[in-house]
Amino acid sequence: RRLRDVEFTETTCGFCAVGCRFEVASKDDEVLGAVPTEDPAAAPANDFSTCVKGKFGYEFTNSDDRLTTPLVRDADGDLREASWDEALDRVVEGLTDIRESAGPDALAAFASSKCTNEENFLMQKFARAVLGTKNVDNCARLCHSSTVAALKQTVGYGAMTNRINEDVGEADAYLISGSNTTESHPVLATRIKRNVDAGADLVVFDPRKVEIAEHADQYVRTKPGYDIAWLNGLIRYIIEHDLHDEAFVEERTRNFEDLREKVEPFTPAEVKRLAGVPPVELARAAETIAAADSVVFGWAMGLTQHSHGTGNVLAMANLALVTGNLGKPGAGLSPFRGHNNVQGGGGDMGTLPNVLPGYRDLGDDDVLDEFEDAWGVRPPDEVGLKVPEVFDEALAGNVRGLYVMGENPALSEPDLSHADEALEALEFLVVQDIFRTETAEYADVVLPAASFAEKDGTFTNTERRVQLVNAATSPPGDARQDWRILQAVARQMGHGWEYDDPEEVMDEIASLAPIYGGISHERLREENGLQWPCEDADDPGTAFLYEARFNFPDGKARFVPADMGRPGELPDEEFPLTLTTGRVLYHWHTGTLTRRVEGLRHHVGESFVEINPETAESLGIADADRVRVSSARGSIEVRAELSERPGPGVVFIPMHFAGGAANELTGEHVDPTSGIPEYKVSSVRVERV
Ligand code: SF4
Repeated sequence: RRLRDVEFTETTCGFCAVGCRFEVASKDDEVLGAVPTEDPAAAPANDFSTCVKGKFGYEFTNSDDRLTTPLVRDADGDLREASWDEALDRVVEGLTDIRESAGPDALAAFASSKCTNEENFLMQKFARAVLGTKNVDNCARLCHSSTVAALKQTVGYGAMTNRINEDVGEADAYLISGSNTTESHPVLATRIKRNVDAGADLVVFDPRKVEIAEHADQYVRTKPGYDIAWLNGLIRYIIEHDLHDEAFVEERTRNFEDLREKVEPFTPAEVKRLAGVPPVELARAAETIAAADSVVFGWAMGLTQHSHGTGNVLAMANLALVTGNLGKPGAGLSPFRGHNNVQGGGGDMGTLPNVLPGYRDLGDDDVLDEFEDAWGVRPPDEVGLKVPEVFDEALAGNVRGLYVMGENPALSEPDLSHADEALEALEFLVVQDIFRTETAEYADVVLPAASFAEKDGTFTNTERRVQLVNAATSPPGDARQDWRILQAVARQMGHGWEYDDPEEVMDEIASLAPIYGGISHERLREENGLQWPCEDADDPGTAFLYEARFNFPDGKARFVPADMGRPGELPDEEFPLTLTTGRVLYHWHTGTLTRRVEGLRHHVGESFVEINPETAESLGIADADRVRVSSARGSIEVRAELSERPGPGVVFIPMHFAGGAANELTGEHVDPTSGIPEYKVSSVRVERV
């Protein structure tokens, strides 16, 4: 619609995975702001609401820092402006040289959960069919890969089972752990708080008393890194007191006896010893969860980013199953996903080293035949490298070229000095982004891309809802939409890609990924989003999963008991405190977007460390003092902020800043199943400077 000379374009938020819909107001190709859609039905996740980022977070699209032309590294080692022809020639030459001299698996590609489904589908196709490499992954490796690994084993799909409004918004009770919901998923948190005000029970287990815990009926402070203990303890208590859902367990699950046996050691006394949870609190939480008619189990990176992250989520899934809280309204497993399109772009589109689009098995010859028929090239059938392995192999000289679309690993990887060495070791690096990010500083070629406000396609939000993204403005200067850039490189490398628009790409996705089989842009324009699985044109999509059967051949869920896991690093004399990292309301991920928005920077403009007053006093640190935080990997200087949020002995640093970067301190321990790094537990020392 148009009002005077202002254009209003309905689209989907480019920040978090709640997937709020609104209209972007623009004039003369400049974004002026975001306003609620005229029709709330067009915004199923948020009606009229948005958070502060949704309302005011768009200045970055108009930023003077935007990349407007390709950059190439010259003989002096500096990045200089170049034409698209020169930049594409350099990209093709750099990638081809490595492929010819060292083979396709010396190349790797990182897709982006910020980009559309269509762009991510093309990125994995580019990696597999054009480069011929098995190595494609994305930053979901760093956030919810452990969720995906655990839910695939227990219930079948690595995804949130339920809806934001109708289920999360209307549960009888919640167990939330490891999610700073208010600051990370503000609109979703509002739904929860509104329901709690109306009488729903909220139980929060977390080492840090995050804002949502202020609304809880019960908040339990836990020891960082020992979540399996209290989760297994809850299961044990519920079974021991016959509070489990016997009929559900009998009819809809397998392996219950194994679970019963494996949780037996987690007595209340043992849970207290391991996780610091008092028996009375454990009993109270178990009784609340067991008594409620429907419970939503919500979590985010506080549960996933551990060296036993998969075990944490297995235990959470076991608890939901044992209490019969799946396959019905108002209940379910709710991993709150981070990026706007991490569900679709980070998983569904096959931007992973172990599955093809639609989570199809790359070890299955029939599946490979199907992709070969469609692409004219057979995808590699071996499992490729995960993100952290790409960095290790770059250091070992086995990965020599990397293509990064819309991600910033120079700031998001754990142990940044390790990431720095790996990026330096690469022979050839392409970065495709909207800003000259910290990662772009290492690149041989930088390709200017489009922001969410300048592109067409789809995002899939945390509730599996595929929604349209519509361009409100044009990319600045010579910048291009990511799908156009990938198509140009593929064509120059001899592959006749001829997509006219993202709608055609979605048709190809639908033909190869059955869970998207009934999704088309045409339907999305009429139906305000579709939740997968949506298998054909008559399928209305799936509001909540597992109503009739779990995603296994026999239709039954599996209890997969979680063995006790402990942090990879424990406090010692030299580094006596435990660091945990996370988000603040006003910023997003590595801050490449929000650090460029004056209104957001005004609220939180620099990195800081939150310290419990008791700990601060013992260290002689006062509020606002400058302090040095050190770990075995490195050290940073930041401002101290005294707060009761972390408990004694625990400190918190946000992950959004390049100065005082939290990941200078985090370590190399990873979950062996999913490859997720342990961002949430590192041993540090804090001193006044
Ligand atoms: Fe955007 Fe998430 Fe805020 Fe909604 S809650 S406006 S999707 S950042």
